[in-house]
Amino acid sequence: MTLVEKSAAELLASLREGQLSAVEVATAFLDRIESLDGSVHAFIRVDRQSALQQAERIDERRRRGEPLGALAGLPVALKDLLCTRGEPTTCGSRMLENFRPPYDATVVRRLREADAVLIGKTNLDEFAMGGSTETSYFGPTHNPWRHGYTPGGSSGGAAACVAASMAPLSIGTDTGGSIRQPAAFCGVTGLKPTYGRVSRFGLVAFASSLDQIGPLARSAEDAALLLETIAGGDPADSTAVDRPVPPYSRLVHQPLEGLRLGVVREHLADGLHDEIAEAVHRAIDVYRSLGATVQEVSLPHSRYAVATYYVVAPSEASSNLARYDGVHYGYRTDEQALIRELEAQRKRLEAEGRHEQAEALDSPLVKMYRRTRAEGFGAEVKRRIMIGTYALSAGYYDAYYLKALKVRRLIHNDYRAAFEQVDLLIGPVTPMAAFALGEKLRDPLAMYLVDMYTAGANLAGVPGISIPCGFTADGLPIGLQLQAPPFEEQRLLRGAHMFQQATDWHLRRPVDAS
Ligand code: GLN
Repeated sequence: MTLVEKSAAELLASLREGQLSAVEVATAFLDRIESLDGSVHAFIRVDRQSALQQAERIDERRRRGEPLGALAGLPVALKDLLCTRGEPTTCGSRMLENFRPPYDATVVRRLREADAVLIGKTNLDEFAMGGSTETSYFGPTHNPWRHGYTPGGSSGGAAACVAASMAPLSIGTDTGGSIRQPAAFCGVTGLKPTYGRVSRFGLVAFASSLDQIGPLARSAEDAALLLETIAGGDPADSTAVDRPVPPYSRLVHQPLEGLRLGVVREHLADGLHDEIAEAVHRAIDVYRSLGATVQEVSLPHSRYAVATYYVVAPSEASSNLARYDGVHYGYRTDEQALIRELEAQRKRLEAEGRHEQAEALDSPLVKMYRRTRAEGFGAEVKRRIMIGTYALSAGYYDAYYLKALKVRRLIHNDYRAAFEQVDLLIGPVTPMAAFALGEKLRDPLAMYLVDMYTAGANLAGVPGISIPCGFTADGLPIGLQLQAPPFEEQRLLRGAHMFQQATDWHLRRPVDAS
């Protein structure tokens, strides 16, 4: 097994025992990125020199016998939606192409404190709005299992870099499925924590009542390691709940005795491709053979999850994205050109005697806002802003936004009732495996429907994990989803690890990327 194929846990052990230096590890992954990322395009930015410097410092401190953090010397990739101090943080958008935040996100700070080596920023759908990484201003990421196919999204780069062994661990975010869905499409493990488990300070906001940061890794064991480092309360984020962080990386090895699994009836019904259904059923049989009892449960309102999500998320996005006005942040249109244009227009109208129209022309400031946003945002982001603005406008608020909040409560209640009967919910992550780039790009509704099994967890605030459970006949990975009650990430991780001890789906690597 080559260095880059080792698990995070194995790498950490070798680093600790001095069999590998942080520089050796960083170099191996950087070389791997150099040779593969031209075709995968998982990264927006990799700073080789900075990564090697971080690694050198860790080696130096280890040589001096200084105490080191829990991830000392381990490379971690960051979705480019997390602020990194002084370094470009683009959010996959032209709007923030040259934005350098003056501070680190709390998660980034915790990773630095744990002595992880931050290896690069990964590609994503623009502002995390999408399910295929195709709305990125920087171009799409390819699925390491098949070039020309989507890695999923919006954390497509985060999933692809782990699948292609360009990083052992990466950080993603999940608002409606953006960790779990790309994890499923790329054959890796991805966990969306409970709302409030991980601080979002320094995470560029998409939909604030839904966004969560979480780990992507090769296995539940590795995901546990990363979650343990990033979880916990934060005075800078009032939604980050200050409750103890269990030692996930230790707990993950304890199998769940007497596990009661609930098969979500609505998630194994119409719309699900046969191959995915079969793989999920086989996974359920694996759990049975491990001693779990299995019963059917219902989330009766889950068929409204996508519709509810696509009112709530755009509404919040339309508000969150109001700050990109060309003044506070990022891109600004060419003002001089705009002023010249306005002046010429005004003169022309005056000369034609159309004084009222000349009077009614936008002020340069208003025109600057308009044009900055027209040029800085891509089509999907504009669509979300328009949907959200519409749903929140007087006259439509009650019919759309308020109604969506009421349905959200019903979905939340469904989960509560289900968790009175079972310990974990089990089902598919997505209705189909990865699709070809371009296939759904011009059909937003088809793209949105991919979120039908994932959006519910965000609306209800519960944690969910995606783990590999098989392949389609033509060789694309299939994901299995487990969901748990709030703050039961340890249960999710233990349940996932049990499965990974009994199967080897998570160990398979794409041939052309090895
Ligand atoms: N696919 C969903 C969307 O487009 C989810 C995105 C996410 O979780 N960030 O909104």
